[in-house]
Amino acid sequence: MNENFHQRAQRLLAESLVEGIAAPDQAWLGQHLRECPDCAREAAATQELLQALRGVPVAVPRDLVARTQLRVRLRAQEASESSRSGLLLWVITAASWLLGVLSAPLVWRGFAWFGGQFGVPRLALEMGFVLWWTVPALLAAAAVLYQRGVAQGFAGQRLPRESKTPH
Ligand SMILES: [Zn+2]
Repeated sequence: MNENFHQRAQRLLAESLVEGIAAPDQAWLGQHLRECPDCAREAAATQELLQALRGVPVAVPRDLVARTQLRVRLRAQEASESSRSGLLLWVITAASWLLGVLSAPLVWRGFAWFGGQFGVPRLALEMGFVLWWTVPALLAAAAVLYQRGVAQGFAGQRLPRESKTPH
């Protein structure tokens, strides 16, 4: 019976940090944390971890976004000079950037919940979060490079002298 109370407290604690819990659950959790030193210690450690984690996305991803966005945009500009699919490339670039920005808070909450739930080290969470941010940009860059390769391939087949014109 006691074991169930502790499990319930841990579950409610995790839920309250991610999506919020109902007032009666909140009251029950507060009561249990006052009575149970083990769960209270667990709660304090989780809070500490999450606060440390929440400091990260403000510093890291904004800079990261700016740099990856610039890199992808440069690639897209290079590619669109020799290709008609410039618009498509811009759409891909914008989509990858938007996806990163829009999904960041949601993803971060997921990571924070995951870390709180399974006690994942902070470094591992940060790596995972950074990867999540870079993957869409990397995919966009790959698409840009692929388009560019295709365009150059066609140009080479149709107009062999094309390669002499300076880019
Ligand atoms: Zn407990």
